[in-house]
Amino acid sequence: MGLQPFEGLARLDRALLLRPLQAVVDLVYPPACAVCGTSTGRHRGLCPKCWSALRFIERPYCEVLGIPFSHDLGPGILSAEAIANPPPFDRLRSAAFHDQTVRTLVHGLKYRDRTDLAPMMAQWMLRASDGTVAACDAILPVPLHRTRMFLRKFNQAAELGRHMARQAERPFLPATLLRIRRTRQQVGLGARAREDNVRGAFAVAEGREGDVFGKRLVLVDDVYTTGATVAAATRALRRAGAADITVLTFARALAETI
Ligand SMILES: [Zn+2]
Repeated sequence: MGLQPFEGLARLDRALLLRPLQAVVDLVYPPACAVCGTSTGRHRGLCPKCWSALRFIERPYCEVLGIPFSHDLGPGILSAEAIANPPPFDRLRSAAFHDQTVRTLVHGLKYRDRTDLAPMMAQWMLRASDGTVAACDAILPVPLHRTRMFLRKFNQAAELGRHMARQAERPFLPATLLRIRRTRQQVGLGARAREDNVRGAFAVAEGREGDVFGKRLVLVDDVYTTGATVAAATRALRRAGAADITVLTFARALAETI
């Protein structure tokens, strides 16, 4: 059966209505590169120069840690790091390396209220998710403590997760995992201090255990550095019976490929 005439008309009307609205938005906020601010004409997102500076993380990589290999060693190969220190989560995937271009995007989302960047960043994360978002039961953001949430007004991990959930049509659960203890900022702390700082900081909200028990979950954060925060969050989800946990971040701090 084809399109009902009424339905077709409604879709056409919607498209026609949105076009002038977009033109007004472009007039007030002319499309500019999200990194360097250069006008991008009719295109949204990044200018060609900043776009080509982005380093997306692609296969071949370690199946567990998502660390890129310089040579393709065949499917299912693990990095030495994943074998020596298996992480508490099942796998880690990230969209791009945390270099200057990516840092500007992350800071824009976090501190400059560029929430308009979130849909684009979420799209890249979805692509990097390696099918885990499509196969998951729910997407959960790494939560902020309520006092920090109050000061900053929004959680960038939740913003990315929300857009990804919408794009992939998967459930988004922002209130299931809680940060029950206020922690110091991880920036500037060493690996060991980071672990101590976030130990026991997360818990599954009372009455929400059913969101987690036996489920395949995707835990979202903006940047993966030493992994101490997502490891602590993962342990709280494991204690509540999560079956499978993928950590998915926008950026990945990584010195070199293997
Ligand atoms: Zn640019």
